[in-house]
Amino acid sequence: MKYLCVLFVFLCAFTVFVMFTVIAEGDIDGILNNSENINIFEIPALPEAAEAFKFSEIFEYIEHEKHIEYNEEAIEKQIFISVLDVKTNEVSVVCLEEYLCGVVFSEMPSSFEIEALKAQAVAARSYCVYKIIFSNENAREEHRGADICNDFRHCKDYISYEEAAGKHGEDYISPLWEKIRCAVYETKGEIITYQSDPAIAVFHAISGKETESAENIWGNFVPYLVSVPSEEKNRQSEVRNYITESMFSPNEFRETLVLHGFNADFSKNNSDASLWISNISLNSSGRVDTVDIGSQTITGKRLREIFSLRSTDFTLEYKNQAFIFTVTGYGHGVGMSQYGANLMALDGKDYIEILLWYYTGVKIDYAWKFL
Ligand SMILES: [Zn+2]
Repeated sequence: MKYLCVLFVFLCAFTVFVMFTVIAEGDIDGILNNSENINIFEIPALPEAAEAFKFSEIFEYIEHEKHIEYNEEAIEKQIFISVLDVKTNEVSVVCLEEYLCGVVFSEMPSSFEIEALKAQAVAARSYCVYKIIFSNENAREEHRGADICNDFRHCKDYISYEEAAGKHGEDYISPLWEKIRCAVYETKGEIITYQSDPAIAVFHAISGKETESAENIWGNFVPYLVSVPSEEKNRQSEVRNYITESMFSPNEFRETLVLHGFNADFSKNNSDASLWISNISLNSSGRVDTVDIGSQTITGKRLREIFSLRSTDFTLEYKNQAFIFTVTGYGHGVGMSQYGANLMALDGKDYIEILLWYYTGVKIDYAWKFL
């Protein structure tokens, strides 16, 4: 019995030893296998959302990271510009990217899609760089020697964070400003170029069925500012005030024209105002080129100014004793349409696709190469 007890204890001890050895070896194999995996692949830490990536996607991700690293290295140089504040008549030197936050904030609704805001940031940056490089003596004198001013009629509109927060409250402005900063800094330094020169990336709010050619507005053909279709016409209900109407009595119509120095003779058809207007001719983008009023011809561009119409994309008719302008879109129509850009972004297009759509034949490059 004594020997049986010793044998039983020995067998138990042996069994425990064997089991421990198998389990331990299994663990060691597991650790070794894992170590090998880590050593072989050397996958960098991925963000949470990327953990479910397949291997092919991981390598794409790494390529993407390299691209970002390259960008950061390439655009390390800070660019400073001088800005004339037309309200105080003072010139100050500011960081281009910080200045652009104030431009994008005042030029495009911050509720727009991030890719539309990024396209706007690149367009505004290109416009600034173009102005810095190609401004002539006269333009510099108008700016008291500065690169650019904050008058929207002359250069680009601008509002500082402090000013915006003072108007609308910091709690409201702060998250919107952060969104704009993301759009500006995620495209830091990027501009559009045409044939290796910075492009003058003009833009407008809402287009008709096509954007306008620069030649029809300013008289000079610009190869990257030509008519292209814009998405608003297909989704009019998503664009606020896509079509607007302005109505004038015959007296108002005539007096407004006279007040602005338009000396047409209305006496021949004094009794029938419907005969005052004729020969409405359209240009290549479907906007009004000229209209005959009384005995004179007037351009659509001038009529837009005189009657404060939202664009030159209008019809003019005399109905129920009134002249009625039915106007499509808002702005001169040249370059990128902001609402069109937002609709493209809602459709999943990124800022580069938006820019390449609206500015024909351009490329993306870096501002620091030109300054
Ligand atoms: Zn200016």
